[in-house]
Amino acid sequence: MTDEFYLLQPPRFSEEQLEFLIHNAKDYQITHGSLLKLVRAEEEHSVPTRPVGVSLVPSQFPRKCFEQGVRIQGIYNELYAKVASDEAWLAQALKDYIRDDPFTSILWEIYLESKRTNFSHRRISLGVFRSDYMIHLHKEQTSATHATRVDAELKQVEFNAFSCAGGTHANIVANMHQHLHKIGAYRTTFGNIDTSSSSLPPNDGINGIVRGLVSAHHAYYASNRNAPTRTGVLFIVQGRNFNICDERPLEYALWDQNTPIPAYRLIFGPDVIEQTSIGPSGELLFNSPTCPFSPLEISVVYMRAGYELEEYDDVGCAARLRLEGSRAVKCPSILSHITTFKKVQQELTKAGALERFIDESKCKDIRSTFAPLYPLDKSEQGLIGRKLALNPDTAGNHVLKPSLEGGGHNIYGRDIPNFLAETPEEIWHTFVLMEIIRSPTQSGMLMSPRGLYEGPVLSELGVLGTSLWSEGSEFEIMENDYVGWTFKSKAEDVNEMSVVKGYGCFDSPWLVDVP
Ligand code: ADP
Ligand code: MG
Repeated sequence: MTDEFYLLQPPRFSEEQLEFLIHNAKDYQITHGSLLKLVRAEEEHSVPTRPVGVSLVPSQFPRKCFEQGVRIQGIYNELYAKVASDEAWLAQALKDYIRDDPFTSILWEIYLESKRTNFSHRRISLGVFRSDYMIHLHKEQTSATHATRVDAELKQVEFNAFSCAGGTHANIVANMHQHLHKIGAYRTTFGNIDTSSSSLPPNDGINGIVRGLVSAHHAYYASNRNAPTRTGVLFIVQGRNFNICDERPLEYALWDQNTPIPAYRLIFGPDVIEQTSIGPSGELLFNSPTCPFSPLEISVVYMRAGYELEEYDDVGCAARLRLEGSRAVKCPSILSHITTFKKVQQELTKAGALERFIDESKCKDIRSTFAPLYPLDKSEQGLIGRKLALNPDTAGNHVLKPSLEGGGHNIYGRDIPNFLAETPEEIWHTFVLMEIIRSPTQSGMLMSPRGLYEGPVLSELGVLGTSLWSEGSEFEIMENDYVGWTFKSKAEDVNEMSVVKGYGCFDSPWLVDVP
């Protein structure tokens, strides 16, 4: 059963029309790199790939909520740049995590160590951010008529400040849906097929992220008068990476600039230690035998690895310290990295927290996107959180989140009390409790290696932004942009959303005007 919130009907297909749609979607994906690399089956001279899961038809999403997310991204960029520059606030907000959560404590230690060894210079940081939202249906009974008024509200699921993936896939799938519209696969559902559909918003996420990297590259150059003629961007990546189609186009676009910007990949861990060094003024040098410019001075370190505790053995820690302590622009710095933790999201919902960072009028815009969040410590709010989490009736309306990234770690609803019963109370405070966002469902059609799913789906919007800021004698935001979006849909009964782990599918919003 789907809710009756979205009133427009998605196109219906005859068997022939569906075959046409699937055939065209598959070919578009293969020819545009909407793929996962099947690394386990890689052979010496060949490698198989598989299309990522996609929604065959765009899914409805309230236009006003989409526009709201786009409009406030600049404020979120500013907020998180400022939080990432406020060591004192982070130290206080995360003090228990720094003590008891192994990952936070490792990152904090590396940060402190990098400060001890760091050269005093102006620090420039780049943030590639993604604010994830769902629609929450707020139902209100008017006292006079007892009629129920339903309002769609944009509510934040989480804010990602580290290694935001999906920008490239989302861009390609948005283009694919526009193409399928133009060839008439949806007939006139999305408007006149002779033009791009105005109910399917454009997505320029790849260029947007690349613009951020290019700005950071130039900012490095400008702030280092001794910079050599050649500097380049270093992508820090995971070995045997199945998601290269999300990363490689960003590298290619750097090489394709009018003045090509060298971009190389280096696997996080031992390779960083072996193939980089620190020059006399703190510059990061890339000394790869395969890089013709070696040693290449690195302008920007773009992290697409290093988000899991398991990556931080002694060598992993030394690698991160080398990168963090260098003069290169970090995307992100360690302080910016830890702003991605759900604990920070929860701390920002506390009364007065936002006001420390941004103007009052902006606080209102940001606060309107917050869903109720509770700590599970012994503070007043924490005791409320504990009560909600331990009672099976109230737990049902919540999700429990540890401070881990990458999907698959949350505990949902009625599983929460049992989970807490089996978890030592001393570490309860390393979780946050969040109220469930009740999104309206609609009928959808998802195509993935699991087959074709037809049934109720739930969607999630991610708004992408970049921010470039500098710290030193004073704090300055040098760039602040909305750059694009991601949109994912999943079967109603699935909790998680990660596409690469097989839960959700890339999709595009079909913008509709709802009350
Ligand atoms: P991560 O991506 O770091 O694992 P998230 O907070 O994004 O953690 O949660 C994973 C998924 O769980 C989300 O993409 C969303 O589908 C679902 N989810 C998380 N929080 C909520 C919530 N408050 N209400 C409804 N669904 C949620
Ligand atoms: Mg998430």
